[in-house]
Amino acid sequence: MRRKVSIVGAGQVGSTAALWIAAKELADVVLVDAVEGIPQGKALDLAQALPIAKSGVQITGTNDYTDTANSDIVILTAGLPRKASMSRNDLLRANFKIISDVVGKAVAYSPESILIVVSTPLDAMVQAAYRLSGFNRERVLGMASVLDAGRLRSFIAAELNVSVEDVSALIIGGHGDTMIPLIRCTTVAGIPITELLPQERIDSLVQRVRDSSVEIVKHLKTGSTCYAPAAAAVEMAEVILKDKKKILPCTAYLQGEYGIDGCCVGVPCKLGAAGLEKVQEIKLTGQEHAALMKSAAAVKELCDIIGM
Ligand code: NAD
Repeated sequence: MRRKVSIVGAGQVGSTAALWIAAKELADVVLVDAVEGIPQGKALDLAQALPIAKSGVQITGTNDYTDTANSDIVILTAGLPRKASMSRNDLLRANFKIISDVVGKAVAYSPESILIVVSTPLDAMVQAAYRLSGFNRERVLGMASVLDAGRLRSFIAAELNVSVEDVSALIIGGHGDTMIPLIRCTTVAGIPITELLPQERIDSLVQRVRDSSVEIVKHLKTGSTCYAPAAAAVEMAEVILKDKKKILPCTAYLQGEYGIDGCCVGVPCKLGAAGLEKVQEIKLTGQEHAALMKSAAAVKELCDIIGM
């Protein structure tokens, strides 16, 4: 049977995710948005690319959630990106309202689906989706660290002039500012990065990852990042659809792992057909663990504001 992925929010990240899914022929795609015309126009444009890209999937654009019925995966990208004029709490409240609206509708039509949340502030929106959906934690995941690790991998590959495929990186915690790169787990073809680059260079690449969104927005002047975030969400979807049992850093609801209970935060997760199949616990140093607890406390603070 053909697989089905619905993407809520047909904006930059949502439509780019649709393109990646179609290009990889992973599933039929339904793009749904609150604004009339946007999902229909994007879907039509994408559908016309498919014969050229030799992809046989179906793409539908709609404002009606009945079209999303029985999706295997729902990727949630509806939400506002942060504008300079907005405080963090303004963004939190605005996107919480949107997530509350879309989660209710999406799960009503796809009660067996797996949710992948992209909307920001990420960890708090994952926790909101987890509570509002009533799904078990295995079926509610957030995308952030796959993106940050991808950014670090691309910088390391460019720095050493090696294939990106050889570079493996692990980042946990929150997204951007609060990310926790585990440099001791970062390797090139199995060789620890610390043997290939001096610490100052590693620190500077890590800082560039933290500042990546800002660096890109500075170039663009208007708009924000979409290609890498969409690719990261689609990698999570692909691993689930193909039951690959790959360990990816994802935001998940922790129930005691890493000493954190009742809070969503980014940790290594084994993903497969069931969604989150295992939270992979690794031994953290005292400093790493303290940073993870700080990330969790920051998420909890946001979740308290929205009552999640
Ligand atoms: P965008 O403005 O291009 O698209 C958002 C879309 O959501 C719009 O088309 C809008 O009409 C739609 N929308 C708003 N309210 C809706 C509702 N109630 N129902 C259905 N659709 C609705 O924004 P974008 O650049 O695609 O970013 C989307 C979200 O993803 C933002 O919150 C952004 O901050 C976040 N983001 C997260 C990461 C990450 O690493 N997790 C990376 C990039 C972007």
